[in-house]
Amino acid sequence: MISVNEARERILSHFQTTATERIALIACAKRVLVVNLTAAHDLPLFDNSAMDGFAIRAEDTSASNLTLSVVADIPAGSSPTVILARGQAARIMTGAQMPEGANAVIPVEDTDFNHREAGTPAPKSISFAKIIETGDNVRPRGMDIHTGEIVLRKGQTLKPQDLGLLAMLGIGNVQVYKKPRVALLSSGDELLEVDAPLESGKMRDSNSYTLAALIESAGGEVLRLGVAKDTRASVEALLQKAIREDVDFILSSAGVSVGAFDFVKEVIESKGVLDFWRVNMRPGKPLAFGEYLDKPFIGLPGNPVSAFVGFEIFVRQVIEKLSGKLDGSRRKINVRCEEEIESDGRESYLRAKIHEENGVLVASLTGHQGSGNLLSLVQADALLIIPAGVKCVPAGQEAEAYLL
Ligand code: AMP
Ligand code: MG
Repeated sequence: MISVNEARERILSHFQTTATERIALIACAKRVLVVNLTAAHDLPLFDNSAMDGFAIRAEDTSASNLTLSVVADIPAGSSPTVILARGQAARIMTGAQMPEGANAVIPVEDTDFNHREAGTPAPKSISFAKIIETGDNVRPRGMDIHTGEIVLRKGQTLKPQDLGLLAMLGIGNVQVYKKPRVALLSSGDELLEVDAPLESGKMRDSNSYTLAALIESAGGEVLRLGVAKDTRASVEALLQKAIREDVDFILSSAGVSVGAFDFVKEVIESKGVLDFWRVNMRPGKPLAFGEYLDKPFIGLPGNPVSAFVGFEIFVRQVIEKLSGKLDGSRRKINVRCEEEIESDGRESYLRAKIHEENGVLVASLTGHQGSGNLLSLVQADALLIIPAGVKCVPAGQEAEAYLL
């Protein structure tokens, strides 16, 4: 049996980043950048007002009452032609370009002009008593971003606000990594479709739902192959279907243990190789990795919690590597264990809920840790990590956890 780390390294070493494609900005959320992106121009594009008010010359202002004549009205989107002289002001709206000669803005609420309803024409003059400094309430050109500056880096996963920034910079198409494609199958004679009537001895296939959503959450695309029966022929037929499709790897659940009807390992070996099929972890010991007709194959355990944990510990990183991601999506945190935890010495991942107590994150288990108890996973917000070799973690001790 190999360690979790060794298994992860062996799996990851088989995968390389997939091809790239150029796609429309609107489709880029959660996609991963292939190259650094730089600004082709400054932002803001021009000096503009940060307030609705009056563009003025700061040097005109004083602590005593001052009256300025209003010589122009500058709405957002217009290109001002006026040049402000001494004693002059221009009404200006937020985001509108500053006129030449002006170097500051006095907010409308600091002046005697009290008519602020939409449609009110500009006054002939304004009065106020306030010293305004050069640059007050002005957003100068290039204040946020300079031409040539790197704004987003290769390997970053694009967030909604990143798309907004790229739009500001006029980048309407982006080179991103192609989404890795994963063929997904379940296996087991006991498995029913979610809407099939219940039959004696049968249960519903839940893994294909959990795993499909996990694949997508990691940035992959799923090809759902359905359920293989517990026969060589059925397992082989689904694997062949995966081979005919353009997928990056095959992901299955169940059928890789030592049961009398666990045919998956055997079928893989008949037309490929199995690198390993057991990992020193709990849950999730029967975890297989190999190749079927040169296509990488990862066989997760059948129990729903084991399948989930196996995905999080091994498969998520594969999808992230394939999709070029340099910013992994799972965060490790330090927590304090609320209760004593026993382990059998395998590297263990326990379902836990995290709460805060006097600034410390405290983890409590969400229920019995049987690998078929999906509810306790549903109620968890972290996987508490008990390292290999540890048999007991006393209450109050620190441990690491993956935030779900
Ligand atoms: P196996 O590895 O085939 O022996 O499966 C281990 C356990 O996981 C059995 O109790 C199966 O019924 C269960 N199991 C296998 N596949 C699924 C699935 N797709 N959804 C829910 N439970 C499953
Ligand atoms: Mg089975």
